[in-house]
Amino acid sequence: MRTGVASLAIVCLLAVAGATAAEKSPHEVYDALNALRPDPAAVYELKPENRVELRRAGLKLSFDEGRLALFAPFEGRVTGLVFSGRGHVLAAPRDPVEKQQMGRFLGAPVLDQDFLSAYLRFTDDTASELLHELQIAKVSPDPDASFVSRWDPVVASYNPAHSLRILFSSLASGLRPYFYAGVVGAATGPFDFLYDQERPEAFLLGQPRKNGNREFFDVWASYAPPGYSAPAPAFRPLHYAIDTTIRPDNSLEASASIQLHSETGSVRHVVFQLARSLVADAAEDSSGHALPLFQNEGMTAQERSTRGNDVVYVILPAAIPAGQDFTLRLRYHGNVIENAGNGVLFVGAHESWYPHLGEASSFAGYDLTMRWPRNLRLVATGTKLDEHEDGEQRIAHWRTEMPVSVMGFNLGDYATASVSADTYSIDIYANHQLEPSVTNRLANSPDVFPTPDFSGGQRRLQAPAPTLPPPSPAEAMKQLGKEIDSSVRFYETFSGPFPFHTLSVSQIPGSNAQAWPGLLYLPTFSYLPPETQHRAGLSTAVQEHFTDLAPFHEVAHQWWGNLVGWSSYRDQWIDESIANYLAMLFANTQKNPEHTLRMWLDRSRKKLITRPSDAEDRPADVGALVLGTRLDSSRSPEAYEQIIYSKGAWVLHMLREMLRQPGSKSPDARFETLLRTLVAKYSYRALSTAAFQREVEAVMTPAMDLEGGRSMDWFFEEWVRGTGIPHYRVEFTVARTDKGFAVRGKLFQTGVPRSFIARVPLYYSDAGRNVFLGSVVAAGPETSFHFIAAVAPRKLHIDPQLTLLCTTD
Ligand SMILES: [Zn+2]
Repeated sequence: MRTGVASLAIVCLLAVAGATAAEKSPHEVYDALNALRPDPAAVYELKPENRVELRRAGLKLSFDEGRLALFAPFEGRVTGLVFSGRGHVLAAPRDPVEKQQMGRFLGAPVLDQDFLSAYLRFTDDTASELLHELQIAKVSPDPDASFVSRWDPVVASYNPAHSLRILFSSLASGLRPYFYAGVVGAATGPFDFLYDQERPEAFLLGQPRKNGNREFFDVWASYAPPGYSAPAPAFRPLHYAIDTTIRPDNSLEASASIQLHSETGSVRHVVFQLARSLVADAAEDSSGHALPLFQNEGMTAQERSTRGNDVVYVILPAAIPAGQDFTLRLRYHGNVIENAGNGVLFVGAHESWYPHLGEASSFAGYDLTMRWPRNLRLVATGTKLDEHEDGEQRIAHWRTEMPVSVMGFNLGDYATASVSADTYSIDIYANHQLEPSVTNRLANSPDVFPTPDFSGGQRRLQAPAPTLPPPSPAEAMKQLGKEIDSSVRFYETFSGPFPFHTLSVSQIPGSNAQAWPGLLYLPTFSYLPPETQHRAGLSTAVQEHFTDLAPFHEVAHQWWGNLVGWSSYRDQWIDESIANYLAMLFANTQKNPEHTLRMWLDRSRKKLITRPSDAEDRPADVGALVLGTRLDSSRSPEAYEQIIYSKGAWVLHMLREMLRQPGSKSPDARFETLLRTLVAKYSYRALSTAAFQREVEAVMTPAMDLEGGRSMDWFFEEWVRGTGIPHYRVEFTVARTDKGFAVRGKLFQTGVPRSFIARVPLYYSDAGRNVFLGSVVAAGPETSFHFIAAVAPRKLHIDPQLTLLCTTD
């Protein structure tokens, strides 16, 4: 018995020792994957009569003539190949949104061209599939060391982009297959094809391309193939405890303990977003065991500079069973705080100043501890529990009362002002001084007078000094606070009670704005009075944007984005559009006769139909709202902003106009119901385009039912999943009848697909005012109409009330 136990113990020890020797660490495996090369003994000569082909999700790659080399096996499997010669690629997406994009980038809705070379990586059965084909075609290996060595530098530079993904598959057998082809097309040059079934949209086709100095990845097509079910996220964040120390040089050193819930039990790598300016130093599990981590490996310097969100992968010792909670701790340091000069500090990294898991709808609880130089003030998401001084530092704690999808902070040498309401307070934080980029603009303004010497630098004394107060942002605080408070009250009608106890409004240099839960970053220009904005050289339109729209757009995000979330880039347009339209509606109530809703709508329409100098198309023709950030490409670098805010606001406006009951006690009741229902049903969740359409259908009127069947498909197909703005022209004749004047004519519709339908209101002038004649449901390029008018119209006006996004003669 005793002997038995002893020998068993020895066997066990041997087994453990054996496993340790055989099992490489993730970093060793990663290095081995980077070092993989094509095998000189596995080279095959292909001729047209023995060509081989691969099909993946509707894309066909055929290798017609040339040499093909398989990679040396990794853990017994071949994970790549290279090919030089002549091949052919064919892909034809069926989805109309994708066809439109293919057409825009390729000139036709199909990819159909020869290629000269290809580099393939995969975790699926590509190699055995090809070997089988080669066997049938009776092609035997033709060893060729020089072919393989010619590929060596290319393979060395391409491998790191794929090694991690292949490593993850080798760590967890439950991971779905990966297939990548980097192809040099005869017509398009190099492009990428990805079929990664771990992605929600497995199919991706596109190309890196430049516009000026900016790098883009032009996505030709990205979608989930028919019948494909997207994988569930492997982990969900439950709680973050973040402990951050900000040093006197503004660098930070921090740790985050993140409690996670395992959803699938099939994955061993956890993906966190972390700003590229931060270095992940270590990761450990709840018992303090160090875990391997990878940060930005395989990413080229170019990718690192163009990607907004960098990632850290933490490797678990084993998959965590589905349903189980566990905690990971990460330590990291670096710089996210920028100094704009004159004591103006701000958080420059707009995302992931802590390791963040999931999307904009991954709601979780947060505890935040901050230590920072005591001369500064710090504002953050959540409720501040305490704050005290400790030597040269201030220390404070915040806790979120309801789940949030992100946690933000800002700091500076702030002046503050507060506006309190019954259930919330608005705290405005402004810098005492202006950053040099603004004071320089003021100093160089043509109507020069000495600007207060903030910078200690040169003054310009070309003109006598009028007695102007220093343009300190702190001056404008009270006014800004009052306006933000009235916007909150205004939005509560549409969106329900303000979701947080405090709204901290803080300043950042530059022109960007951002909304964190209970915390805004507003640009310095939004803090400055119009005369200072003017002196700084801002055009009237830009001034109006900073003063009348930007702050209130961000306030609206407190509901739309921070309470109602989105998960896919295809749904991001909803929160942005609602935020922008509500900001326009609020601006409309501010009693400035020149800043009416009409003005904003008109300006948005102009933006859509004017081709920017750096783009190849008018924003109206770039693509559908559901393309989200894909709208930005080398062909249209700013199209996301140009389309989402303008067309998005118009889509909301058209819905509101259709839902309106003019003359009733509360003409917008249905529109308000729609928005409040969305908040009630989709708080702390993602709102999808399909769900949004369903909620519109729940409140739609019979007049909106242009197709029958109580469906708003027509509207969403045309305006949300469609591209283009209709142009209308009218021709008519008038004949006197005993009932009045018969107005017969035709409405001509161009600029949109033939199937486009819309209700187009026609008016005529009578004694200087517009009189409604009737609505024509335009169906196709030409629609006849017949109305009776009380007087003989001389001219017909197409939609003078701006209820429809269109252009007219
Ligand atoms: Zn926004």
